[in-house]
This record gives sequence, C-alpha cells and structure tokens, in this order.
Amino acid sequence: MTRAVSRVDLNGIGMTSQRTRERLIQRLMDQGVSNMAVLDVIRTTPRHLFLDEAMAHRAYEDVALPIGFQQTLSQPYVVARMTELLLAAGPRCRVLEIGTGSGYQTAVLAQLVEEVYSVERIRPLQQKARQRMRKLKLRNVHMNHADGGMGWEERGPFDGILATAAPERIPEELLRQLAPQGRLVIPVGGDSQHLQVVTRTAEGYETEIVEAVNFVPLRPGTVR
Ligand code: SAH
Repeated sequence: MTRAVSRVDLNGIGMTSQRTRERLIQRLMDQGVSNMAVLDVIRTTPRHLFLDEAMAHRAYEDVALPIGFQQTLSQPYVVARMTELLLAAGPRCRVLEIGTGSGYQTAVLAQLVEEVYSVERIRPLQQKARQRMRKLKLRNVHMNHADGGMGWEERGPFDGILATAAPERIPEELLRQLAPQGRLVIPVGGDSQHLQVVTRTAEGYETEIVEAVNFVPLRPGTVR
C-alpha cells in the first residue's frame, strides 16, 4: 500500500528540479535498489524539508547530512536499501523504528506500511520530526521519546523493526518484540559495522549479514 504525500507539499520544492531527483533515483537503481514502490516514495518525498535551510540545497545528493546534536540524516541509498530489506518478505503492518532523527526514514516508511512507531532519545529532534509529519499529513506515525534499545513494548509485537543507530550487539528486547515472521533490519558493530537482517522463525532467529555500513551509535538514556 502506498500513501502518497499530497501534491501541494511536493510543489513547494522550488530549489530542486525534477531532474535532480530523477538523477538520485537512477543512482539508487545503479547501486542495486530494485523495489519500485520504495524508489517511487523516495522520488516523491521532499527530503529538503528534513534539513535546516543551510543544508537543504544538498538534499538530493546521495550523502548523509548533519541534523544537529551530532546526528545525521541517513544517505538516501541506505534509507532505500534498509526499507527494501524490511519489505523483502512481504508487506508490513506494524513497524518500529529506532532513531527518528530528522524523520526522513520515518516518512518513507509511513508511505509503505500500515503504522509506524518511532522512538527517539533526543527530544528536540523528535519535536522537529513531529512537525514534519504533520506538515506532510502522515497520520500513521506514532512517536515516543525514550531509549529505543528497549523497543516499545506497549505497542508491540512488530512485524518489522528498523534501527538507524548501531548497537554493539542486538538488544534482546528488540528480538523479543519481533512478531513471528517479523524482520529486524539493524546496523550492528562499533568501529566496523554491518547491516543485519534478523527474521523470527518458528525455531528461533535467522540472521543474514548484508553489507558494511556506517551509522551513529545507539546510545542509552534520553536527552531533554
Ligand atoms: N533515520 C534518521 C537517522 C538519524 S541518526 C534520519 O534519517 O534522520 C540516528 C538517530 O538515532 C539519532 O537521532 C539518535 O539520537 C538516535 N538514537 C541513538 N540512540 C538511540 C536510542 N537508544 N533510542 C532512540 N534513538 C536513538
């Protein structure tokens, strides 16, 4: 199911031509992203709205960009890849995201799954992300200011979990809150990190190691 962002929001682009966006989509395809629903959502989601004005002109480059508090908006390739991996075994209904950040990945997910539950530990980032969801009229996003390493037990279990900050080891809580056949997409490691996909099966958990990545660390506790 695709919940397209309304036209009105897309027309306010101004600085970014359709061609700039098409170039980004082409680049993602060249790198192996093949899920057309994911590519379509990335094509139409206004990434510049997730950045401060000083950074907005770089929104359609395939790079990670700073969003304050020493955090970054993930590179479009990484967002596309992780989303594609999350959806690879079929549609997802309830998805938990760890690390809302700017809310860009949240907005992409919100257009591809039924409900998104997103947890962020830094309050001011969460507040900005909340405003962006409102502006884009993405009403199926639910946010929590908390340590996402604990998951979001009251709203679980989830048939998808996607983390955008890297723990050294996968927190037990996240595995526990995964529904049967649920998929967890998560960067794991310290100096050297790898993207992992964990599927909950009848027997336990199956882990697939996908590729090297570079995320900010998952940190304990919250910041007001
Ligand atoms: N998906 C975001 C990526 C932001 S960077 C985007 O595209 O903008 C990772 C985010 O994870 C940061 O905002 C950071 O504050 C948050 N984070 C780190 N550890 C966390 C934790 N334990 N619980 C919740 N959020 C966490």
